[in-house]
Amino acid sequence: MSIPFIDLKTQYNALKEDIQKRINKVLESGAFINGPEVLELEKKLAEHTGSKYALACASGTDALLMPMMALGIGQGHEVITTAFSFIATAETIVLAGAKPIFCDIDPKTFNIDTTKIEALITPKTKAIMPVSLYGQVADMDEINAIAKKHNLYVIEDLAQSYGAKYKGKRSGALSIAAGTSFYPAKPLGCYGDGGAVFTSDDNLYKAMKEIREHGSESRYYHTRLGINGRLDTIQCAVLLSKMDRYDWEIEQRQKIAHYFNSKLSQIKIAGFSVPFVQSDRDSVWAQYTLMVPNRADFQKKMQELGVPTVVHYPRTMPDQPWYKENLAPKGTWPHSQKAADHVVSLPMYPDMDRATQDKIIDSVIKVMS
Ligand SMILES: *Cc1c(COP(=O)(O)O)cnc(C)c1O
Repeated sequence: MSIPFIDLKTQYNALKEDIQKRINKVLESGAFINGPEVLELEKKLAEHTGSKYALACASGTDALLMPMMALGIGQGHEVITTAFSFIATAETIVLAGAKPIFCDIDPKTFNIDTTKIEALITPKTKAIMPVSLYGQVADMDEINAIAKKHNLYVIEDLAQSYGAKYKGKRSGALSIAAGTSFYPAKPLGCYGDGGAVFTSDDNLYKAMKEIREHGSESRYYHTRLGINGRLDTIQCAVLLSKMDRYDWEIEQRQKIAHYFNSKLSQIKIAGFSVPFVQSDRDSVWAQYTLMVPNRADFQKKMQELGVPTVVHYPRTMPDQPWYKENLAPKGTWPHSQKAADHVVSLPMYPDMDRATQDKIIDSVIKVMS
């Protein structure tokens, strides 16, 4: 039997009765948009992150776009972000009308290298958008300090780190605004597209709420440019059910990742490394990502042993065709390029049993020796 890369089925079976009950309730009510589950979920998300407000929205992409629209980030502005992330990070900056300025990463954590941010600041810079990649929060204190000094906004992309802790606080509650994704494969996922945006700022909350609803202050009265950014009630019902299990799931992911680390860190081969998490934070392990010297060979051999692997991500964002052609980004991002060439993620999900974990570990050891 081959191992799945992500197993959502076991999770569904564990929650099946509750999820079906909640979905049926929405079906019976007919309140498919803005039903009571939306507010219930938002309250729960806000409490869980320690943010004053959470707004459920249609995707992680919208969750990053809406705070930029609300903060007036657009034409003529620059937003500094990492060079190494899923493309939605840079895409939302362009969609807002601004220009992404790419910063290289710290090769140990794969998150933005804060020592390289200040050199990229210009009079046009409006914001910094760090990504908490693979589940580990970026260096938010350093980023917030730079932002404060230069009067910039910080918007954390926590699409991969929902629930992660940083110096006792949660991802999403560490900056003026932050956006996450509930795409099914994310640590906390729904059964379709979804996302949420977080803030503790009253005015920003009000603005983003209006933007989510076509920029309307009241019905058919549009004071802003907005989008249809709502999250369906059914998806909120699914998330309410999944949240009951989420803290346990984070613990399981952490246990599995630590077990992987304890065994795989014994491999001493140049160019091979296990993930590194800084001591003042944890990771929710959206991905368990290795660096390997010969990736194509590694993936092929792992597949032969029945272990699927995935590359997150094979190209840096400034190296993506559309971005190269239309933005002609200047600079070099050597650590991001090295990551794009050598990272590979192993299967990771909270319901993975010990036998499967051992099979994955044994396969990596076999392939690397
Ligand atoms: C998934 C992801 C997004 C986009 O989320 P969607 O819900 O797919 O729109 C943004 N940033 C990062 C880092 C992601 O992993």
